[in-house]
Amino acid sequence: MRRTMTEQQLEQIAALRRENYPYSFIGRELGLSPNTVKSICQRKGFAASGARKTKAEKQNAPLCRYCHKPLPETKRRGALFCSDYCRTKWYRENRKVTAIRT
Ligand SMILES: [Zn+2]
Repeated sequence: MRRTMTEQQLEQIAALRRENYPYSFIGRELGLSPNTVKSICQRKGFAASGARKTKAEKQNAPLCRYCHKPLPETKRRGALFCSDYCRTKWYRENRKVTAIRT
């Protein structure tokens, strides 16, 4: 059975692709195969811009922990979430397994 893409996933792929993350990286983040990501990008015309990401940049990718979209420039310093909405959602979903003090 084919899983259908949600609007949110498409948005995530577009955002990551805009930042020039490779298909394999996007796939890993979103739980899709690189080929799926690639064909979506081609079909939807999601083009990469800017420089290729280095290995270090990929490892320390400033992605929102909840929605996996790249964090806005202004939030990158030590931030884990792109918005209060994502932070709230993430903590709500992870509270059971992790006790995190804010
Ligand atoms: Zn987010």
